Amino acid sequence: MNGRVLIIEDELELGELVQLYLSKDGIDSDIASTAEAGFLYMSNTSYDLITLDINLPGMDGFEFLQKLRQSSDIPVLILSAREGDEDIVLGLGLGADEFVNKPFSPKVLVARIRAILRRVRSDLDHSASKNIIFDSFNLSPEGYHLEKNGKRIILSTKEFEVLRFLVQNPGAAFSPDNIYQAVWGQEYGDISTVAVYIQRIRKKIEKDPSNPDYILTIHGRGYIFDERKIKSES
Ligand code: CA
Repeated sequence: MNGRVLIIEDELELGELVQLYLSKDGIDSDIASTAEAGFLYMSNTSYDLITLDINLPGMDGFEFLQKLRQSSDIPVLILSAREGDEDIVLGLGLGADEFVNKPFSPKVLVARIRAILRRVRSDLDHSASKNIIFDSFNLSPEGYHLEKNGKRIILSTKEFEVLRFLVQNPGAAFSPDNIYQAVWGQEYGDISTVAVYIQRIRKKIEKDPSNPDYILTIHGRGYIFDERKIKSES
């Protein structure tokens, strides 16, 4: 599999170890030792994925991610040595796609990276799939693209996948368990993540996130996308 990864990591040895394992898999990578350098790399080269360290000199990983998400939906895998970072990322809704704690096994890390790249690739391959229109929104299921009145709404990969799952199954109620299974698959994790993602998506698409029109909460059953909002598939 090919692909290009940007490794943002200030511990050079660790960055080089990740780079070595990626290269064994045929995946090219660059190492940026600061978040600021990361942005410079990104302005010159197009990447498929970023691995992001949190403790960095200068701008830290959280600030980087926040700034990044204003203009990009590239998949981000956070590598963190700090306990509680995952909670902060989820709590602040920063839009990371995966989280791996240090110390990690390079083999496991590369497997996770491959899984993300494969997912992005296979989605690109199925570009024939129809767009779904609801109200003034246009969702391209395989293009990972959501527009409102022609203007792009930036969603992280997982935010998009949760929304897509619900939009593609309108009128059906899904428990957080169902959604976790559908979107995160066999990966381990915390089911409460789903509620966090629903909140984040609502903030981006609902007029009043506390009184939603699209993704409704049905007490005791879970979440349902209001099928009356679907206009057509084109
Ligand atoms: Ca560090």
